Amino acid sequence: MEQSKKRKLSEITNPTSESHQTKRLQTKPVGGSRLQEITNCLQADKQDGETCPICLCDLDTDVVQLGTCKHLFHRDCLEAQLGESDWLKCCVCQCIYGLMKGDMPPGEMKWRLLPTLRCEGYPDIGVWDVFYNFWDGTLKGVKYKGTKRRAYLPDCEEGKKVLALLIKAFERRITFSVGTSVTTGQKNVVVWNIHHKTSLDGGPSNYGYPDEEYFKRVQEELAQRGVVIESEDEVSKTITNSVGHRYFLI
Ligand SMILES: [Zn+2]
Ligand SMILES: [Zn+2]
Repeated sequence: MEQSKKRKLSEITNPTSESHQTKRLQTKPVGGSRLQEITNCLQADKQDGETCPICLCDLDTDVVQLGTCKHLFHRDCLEAQLGESDWLKCCVCQCIYGLMKGDMPPGEMKWRLLPTLRCEGYPDIGVWDVFYNFWDGTLKGVKYKGTKRRAYLPDCEEGKKVLALLIKAFERRITFSVGTSVTTGQKNVVVWNIHHKTSLDGGPSNYGYPDEEYFKRVQEELAQRGVVIESEDEVSKTITNSVGHRYFLI
């Protein structure tokens, strides 16, 4: 029990917002609620002249401060937002608390190392070939069209790290969702939620390499959804072989 609680708290992430709150606040722990367990929030003093970002009323009673981003809310408002969910997104900074799960439809993800293939700008190392397959189906009563997608990552440290993160994102059903295609305007199709490199070359305008900012950008995108590397050996543990397969069914 204690172990699982620890794990949950360690999964709380905050990629971007260290400096939101500069004021010093008197806080004390909020006793053992699910909200506390998931967000690591603290009880705070009332805040004169400040409003709760959820209900827009004065923060004059039962104020709590979120554990990582330090934003302030009414406890009841956060409790209501959390509901029965296992995760919560701060509506001010989008910081994720707990384990975010998406609504990706059933599909499969495969990856393999192709030692002789090259991404432009990485002349000496092979390429991880990532393949996604989603078949047609029905989600929440709506028929949607599946898709097959291929993406590439160079076999460098950063590339492997991103692959491990993408595997995690897939398991949390975050990588794709059913929506409207930005490129074709087609409705009810399986679309990307996370940027992938679908070409080996041609640079950013061709969704390819080289792109100096890509690794940083995609890791930020993933971190915003709570997908981060949590231990040193996580990358090697996630990518155990030169081939891998995850199959996801609701
Ligand atoms: Zn409120
Ligand atoms: Zn926040």
